Amino acid sequence: MVDIYSKMKRSKIMSSVENKKTKPEIYISNLLLKLHYRFQNNVVTLPGKPDMVFPRRKKVIFVNGCFWHGHKDCSRTKLPVTNRAFWEKKISGNIQRDKKVRRELNKLGWKTLTIWQCQISKRKEQALEKRLLMFLES
Ligand SMILES: [Zn+2]
Repeated sequence: MVDIYSKMKRSKIMSSVENKKTKPEIYISNLLLKLHYRFQNNVVTLPGKPDMVFPRRKKVIFVNGCFWHGHKDCSRTKLPVTNRAFWEKKISGNIQRDKKVRRELNKLGWKTLTIWQCQISKRKEQALEKRLLMFLES
């Protein structure tokens, strides 16, 4: 497939995708509300601005897009053919940043859970609920 966007344009598209509340984020938010959990969104005072924050439990959840955050061994992380070096650098930078953020949060006493976009579907909802409960109640 030919990349029809210039480097700049694609970069712009990707970042606008990242800044907006994503579909997977909305899905997980709704699931948590269904399970009667209350949480805060994108708390800017915490490292990495976690997607969902449970202050009393000292737990945070990240909902990550597979491409953008470089999900390991995932079919959704296929890089665009053009500007490959650019994307490799960009995505590996994001992976490093995510690691650092998790380390910082752990140091501050927060537990983190990462849910990947490819793990979210109606079919997998029960497994997902279980995972959320295990994390939040442990
Ligand atoms: Zn994935």
